[in-house]
Amino acid sequence: MSYALTLPSGEQIEYQLERRQRRTVGLKIANGALIIHAPKRIAQWQIESLIVQKANWIIKKLTAFDRHILPTLQWQDGEQLLFLGNDITLAVLQNARSKMPDYNGNLLQLALPSPSDEAIVSRKVIQWYKKQALVDFARRLEIFSTKLGVALPRLLLSNAKTRWGSCNSKKEVRLNWRLLQAPPHIINYVICHELAHLKEMNHSAKFWAVVAGIYPEYKLAEKELKAWSPKLHRL
Ligand SMILES: [Zn+2]
Repeated sequence: MSYALTLPSGEQIEYQLERRQRRTVGLKIANGALIIHAPKRIAQWQIESLIVQKANWIIKKLTAFDRHILPTLQWQDGEQLLFLGNDITLAVLQNARSKMPDYNGNLLQLALPSPSDEAIVSRKVIQWYKKQALVDFARRLEIFSTKLGVALPRLLLSNAKTRWGSCNSKKEVRLNWRLLQAPPHIINYVICHELAHLKEMNHSAKFWAVVAGIYPEYKLAEKELKAWSPKLHRL
């Protein structure tokens, strides 16, 4: 069902309300529209008071969509993050003690004594991404190094602003942890690219032939990676 709510500022917010079997109210912006998933029994005035509370966040997101710009991440409850190419929702709960982040496939939940402290929230989220990246990349590196027939290189995470991966003569492969936000086939491509450098330390035709041997669709993946880059750098 679609509704419109007039804010105390006079601005009007349209929203779609979907009643679900759930315990909390979830807000998200998808394709420039505000969508609210609410428990079956919660009153509409309660939902609308939540919209008023989150009005700044909502308007920022809607405006950004209209202008086709990527808004900077807001380290707060309800923010949308990317994980392996999928949108996931950040949930930040208040809890007396800080708990380990909990991820269930579409929700990354943090429980902290100070949920409105954006510096702490961002640190926790990035820590979580780095930890997951090590596990995820190690598994892919093992698969593709076997496929290429090279010894498993040492894996290190990088935080580079411009490069997604690198490799050196000490047989170390560095991968940017932000890549974990990208779809799996793009991560696979970056891994294959770096592994191919273990055989050819350049970007010669010979090098690309090695890449094509383990990742035939590399040209498409390279293009997709470029297209994804601005989104991956939001984190
Ligand atoms: Zn390269």
